[in-house]
Amino acid sequence: MSGRDVRDAAVARLREQVATLHGELVRYNLVAWTAGNVSARVPGRDLLVIKPSGVSYDDLSPDTMVVCDLDGVVVDGDLSPSSDTAAHAYVYRAMPEVGGVVHTHSGYATAWAACGEAIPCHLTAQADEFGGEIPVGPFALIGGDDIGKGIVATLSGHRSPAVLMRNHGVFTIGRDARAAVKAAVMCEDVARTMYLARTLGRPVPIAAEHVDSLHDRYQNVYGQSGAPVGTA
Ligand SMILES: [Zn+2]
Repeated sequence: MSGRDVRDAAVARLREQVATLHGELVRYNLVAWTAGNVSARVPGRDLLVIKPSGVSYDDLSPDTMVVCDLDGVVVDGDLSPSSDTAAHAYVYRAMPEVGGVVHTHSGYATAWAACGEAIPCHLTAQADEFGGEIPVGPFALIGGDDIGKGIVATLSGHRSPAVLMRNHGVFTIGRDARAAVKAAVMCEDVARTMYLARTLGRPVPIAAEHVDSLHDRYQNVYGQSGAPVGTA
């Protein structure tokens, strides 16, 4: 497959969406320097669109995004893809329902990752979005498939769309890139509030059945009818 084969309207739309979504990482203070990335699967094709490596968020544009196959090999783009591309690609290969992946080192969530501690569910907003605790994944070195394997092993069969990779940071998944960005924003919000709660005292639990009903309502009922979940 050559670059020319992937220059169509669907890929162009995703280049624009992925470039724009990186602005949300900056807006919500989830990233420092160039450390953080968003990718999107091209629906129905074995392709993903991802941030180039080491480029300032101010300099990202649809044209600078990189198109790779699901082995992380560049198909179209002038720049090298994010150094986390192998992890994103592994997730897309293993989890066909996933359409977007985000990685950040956002401060509060990564503090929990540094402690190797899952974020327990003591907030209704966490029950809504994550359906329980936000789990910790294994320690894994960058390069190869270890990070991707850790993400998939932790999130498969789990309600949480976010995993705290031990000593590293956050990976989130979603049905599309926007949903994965939302999960990254909410993960940091919950991590900060739970840090404050721990500092203030002893957080009180939510009964498991209430966590279940909150999650079910939010995922299935909340928002404008016909709109993607969680957009309102
Ligand atoms: Zn990282």
